[in-house]
Amino acid sequence: MQGHSFQALKGYISQGFSAPQGTTNWDGGHHGLDFAYYQRNDEGGVGGHINGTPIQSVFDGYVAALGFAPTYGNYLIIETPADRLPPGLAVLFPVENGESLYLLYAHMQELAPFVLSEPMDCGQVIGAVGDTGDEYFIAEPHLHFETRVGVSNIRLADMNYYDTQATDEEKAEYRHWRNSDAFQLFDPMLLLDYGVEHEDGNG
Ligand SMILES: [Zn+2]
Repeated sequence: MQGHSFQALKGYISQGFSAPQGTTNWDGGHHGLDFAYYQRNDEGGVGGHINGTPIQSVFDGYVAALGFAPTYGNYLIIETPADRLPPGLAVLFPVENGESLYLLYAHMQELAPFVLSEPMDCGQVIGAVGDTGDEYFIAEPHLHFETRVGVSNIRLADMNYYDTQATDEEKAEYRHWRNSDAFQLFDPMLLLDYGVEHEDGNG
């Protein structure tokens, strides 16, 4: 989120990562991190509510998916190829040549105003924290953030699953992202911890 150091972001985590357990529980657990309510008026804190806070792209990259899904609300997935990641980070996840890091940002206020494969800049504002999505999956406004690694240049069509209107194609695309061999799921805390270590006071 805009103007926040990685260290500060860790203070806004309202729900941590938990991996799905086994193949029958493929959509269980919590596939990312949630950043939620904050109110800090002390000692130079920014104060306010997280709703409407601008969200910035963590890295350069390309739009790999965008749309609306009940579980994610308005979502955007940005792909960053291995050779454009900080080398230390590529080793950490790891992301090999020919692979990319895919970051998903969910529950944004508006449908992302981009097109597939559109170039994204590190730090570019990509949306605002909101509470979009089916009420079963979201209560308070928050940013849900996922990190996965897959081969480069994957583009996802519309995802939809927990909806009687969902088509077979939309369900397949949801499972493609959530539990196929195409993507390897990771705890985004790896990325935050890396960011804190390399912040050097200029975050
Ligand atoms: Zn979440």
